[in-house]
Amino acid sequence: MIFVTGGAGFIGSNFILKWMETSKEDILNIDNLSYAANLKNLKSISSDSRYKFVEANIQDQNTIESLLEEHKPRAILNFAAESHVDKSIEGPKAFIKANILGTFSMLSAALNFYKNLQKERKDKFRFIHISTDEVFGSLSLSDPSSDEETAYKPNSPYSASKAASDHLVRAWFHTYGLPTITSNCTNNYGPRQFTEKLIPLMISNAINGKNLPIYGDGKNIRDWLYVEDHCSAIMKILEKGRLGETYNIGGNSEKNNNQIVSEICKILDSLSPKKDKTSYSSQIEYIEDRAGHDFRYSLDISKINKELGWFPEETFSAGLEKTVKWYLDNL
Ligand code: NAD
Repeated sequence: MIFVTGGAGFIGSNFILKWMETSKEDILNIDNLSYAANLKNLKSISSDSRYKFVEANIQDQNTIESLLEEHKPRAILNFAAESHVDKSIEGPKAFIKANILGTFSMLSAALNFYKNLQKERKDKFRFIHISTDEVFGSLSLSDPSSDEETAYKPNSPYSASKAASDHLVRAWFHTYGLPTITSNCTNNYGPRQFTEKLIPLMISNAINGKNLPIYGDGKNIRDWLYVEDHCSAIMKILEKGRLGETYNIGGNSEKNNNQIVSEICKILDSLSPKKDKTSYSSQIEYIEDRAGHDFRYSLDISKINKELGWFPEETFSAGLEKTVKWYLDNL
């Protein structure tokens, strides 16, 4: 069995669905069902005997330790986190708790469990920590992409809390020998994302006749990866990743916010045209920029390409069209 934390959220739920499709192994999902969670994401597998769900907070070390003792997983995949930058600016404390103290509790529980395993189980055990490209901070247009050796320079409370959690994971490997691996991924898009994030927010606002708010001049750049590609990269890391390493994961697909929103509008204009025949792009509105808004993130993914043979498969335009279709069917 493997444990996933945060499996009722966007990436965790996509990971669990893919796991159930591609593996025969059991999976246990630990999630405290925060506002971003949605158990409907997992409805199709909820009564499958290979899948179990426990409502718990990752900061509750005793509960995590009891679950570890009861189920004896061979791996923990730590997806659980507060994940929205805007929310971290309004209220950073929740991010310190979930992302830093939560990861600390998970590492402490995992280490207590790991220490008492027999050698054979110890050799197989993995603690995979899911992190973000935002820890590397902002790049200019001419800066090279960040690689695994690039220094962390987080700028938002969210990225600072993720950076802190990554450092804890590193320390638990070097100091205590817990077999950890960290992944740093670029922006994900795809089905089942809570509608606070750029792509689902734009789709939802567009079809509900609301404005499409773009920060500043819309020129901020992110690299975008289809969520299923992120899930397949994590599976590769679990299977073949080297202990104590970090791996960048990305889509080699940098876009600015104007490009993203205009592509969404074009897809919607064709799939669900407005009655008055105007384009959804007429709903675009530029709003005051986010405080401390990082200009660009970009990852060099050659390490995971070469070492683990992982490459993104989905193109941005095909992945975005699938995503828009999913929201049209499910919103
Ligand atoms: P999400 O907000 O959609 O889901 C997070 C899930 O974690 C939710 O179900 C929530 O209920 C759960 N959770 C939060 N705090 C918890 C706690 N204390 N105890 C138990 N469960 C808790 O986030 P996501 O977009 O799915 O991101 C998952 C992970 O991937 C995060 O660690 C995030 O930092 C990382 N990541 C996300 C992206 C992205 O583009 N979304 C990119 C790179 C990395």
